[in-house]
Amino acid sequence: MNSVYEALVEIVGKDHSSVQPEELFIYSWDLGTTEPHRPDYAVSPRTPEQIQKIVQLANKEKIPVVPLGGGLSLAGLAVPFKGGILLDLKRMDSIIEVNEKARYTVVECGVSQGQLTSYLERHCPHLTHSEPGAPPTATIAGNMAIHGQGDLAQPYGFNSDMINGLEVVLPTGEICQFGSCSIGSGWFTLHPLPDVGLFLGWTGTTGIITKVSLRLFPCKKIRGAALFAVDNEELIPEIIYKLTHTQMVEDIVAFSQAIPPFSSGLQHITINLSADSEKELEFKQEIIFDDTLGEYIRKGDGGYLGFNRGLQRPQISKTSDWRKGGGFEYVGSIMPIDTYPECYRRGRQISEKHDIPYTVLGRCIGAAHAMMFSWTYAFNRADPETIKHAKAALHETDDLVLKLGGTIWKPGLYGQKLVMERLNSSTFDLMRKVKQLLDPNGIMNPGNWEPAL
Ligand SMILES: Cc1cc2nc3c(=O)[nH]c(=O)nc-3n(C[C@H](O)[C@H](O)[C@H](O)COP(=O)(O)OP(=O)(O)OC[C@H]3O[C@@H](n4cnc5c(N)ncnc54)[C@H](O)[C@@H]3O)c2cc1C
Repeated sequence: MNSVYEALVEIVGKDHSSVQPEELFIYSWDLGTTEPHRPDYAVSPRTPEQIQKIVQLANKEKIPVVPLGGGLSLAGLAVPFKGGILLDLKRMDSIIEVNEKARYTVVECGVSQGQLTSYLERHCPHLTHSEPGAPPTATIAGNMAIHGQGDLAQPYGFNSDMINGLEVVLPTGEICQFGSCSIGSGWFTLHPLPDVGLFLGWTGTTGIITKVSLRLFPCKKIRGAALFAVDNEELIPEIIYKLTHTQMVEDIVAFSQAIPPFSSGLQHITINLSADSEKELEFKQEIIFDDTLGEYIRKGDGGYLGFNRGLQRPQISKTSDWRKGGGFEYVGSIMPIDTYPECYRRGRQISEKHDIPYTVLGRCIGAAHAMMFSWTYAFNRADPETIKHAKAALHETDDLVLKLGGTIWKPGLYGQKLVMERLNSSTFDLMRKVKQLLDPNGIMNPGNWEPAL
């Protein structure tokens, strides 16, 4: 047995460490177009102290450590480009606390979105969290680490804006707390202490988040989604502006896709509504559909396609069926809402150039402060030619995002490079210094944000 493996077994036990090729294979790739890279070891720790010992070992041996939550972020963000230790965090799955009155929960880093949703449904049905449209095994912490957004993004912003506190194991092994929890006052606020921006958006290159305190929000008894459609993309920014003015809507997502062909070219808007009573629902529907969207219906510009109880989230993963061999990856971006028409048109052109049925989607963040706009490209996993096209389309889209004045969300290596080339030199220098200070041996998720080293 090699000495690193022996040391890992000593830390987490034989059942939770592996050098078996078939197990390492599972950890070598994600769902997207990134080339696989095999880790040398896979371990599944249970406590922050075990993680602490693992990073201390990695520093001594100068080997990489790659944290993995649900592994669903696509773009290769948890692919171990330089081998090393793959840290599978799913066993750290305790929901430590739910404070109902202060509306927050403290969870370990392996708690998944689906786990928290079903816990709240069973034990605290009047509370909810902002759940991303990702498959339910995606973790809360992994989503924070990349500034994700969920179905409460319209009223409350990015999921990373909903953090009340963090516990992090630094790349050199120290365990730190941030927020009120760091002075023993409970996990109810992040403010007004120095912030935790050092760990968000860095894709696990500055530390391993082990606990998160997450804000919860009122969950009304009736929740559902309405669908509105228009055939002119130019109308979307103005419609979203008017919808957000009502302050009555939860999620607002505008999307357009080539499949089914009869709706290609149409812009659909899903509008999530919630209410505690039929009376409240009726009132909201009247304000939204009669007063706000009514003018588009009366002018013949749009149509209301009904309200469904039970939330039907737009499911991007369905695009994996657009092609035989089911693969897909998307470029996400944070864009000003008024760029929606251009994002749609240019995305459609890129898809058509690469012979991929187009799928585009914009989720409203805040009171129309921004949108997360995504372009999804399907490919056949068994056909290298279609993967090549999807990859080219993804790179062209990364370029497009910056050309249109947006920022790339959860960029892969190509997008990270584009972003770093454009960063103001003092900001880039600061980023480099922060990274060197926190991770002097460059062990954390190497490859990612690497020129910053
Ligand atoms: C069909 C589909 C729909 C999606 N819809 C959405 C959506 O609506 N909103 C959205 O935000 N996202 C969406 N996503 C993207 C992604 O799945 C989510 O953001 C997901 O929450 C990421 O969490 P994860 O646990 O899978 O992260 P992972 O992929 O495991 O990790 C993400 C990154 O964070 C790092 N990391 C993971 N855990 C930690 C930790 N504890 N500490 C430090 N670093 C860590 C990893 O190394 C990696 O770089 C979607 C994905 C798919 C496939």
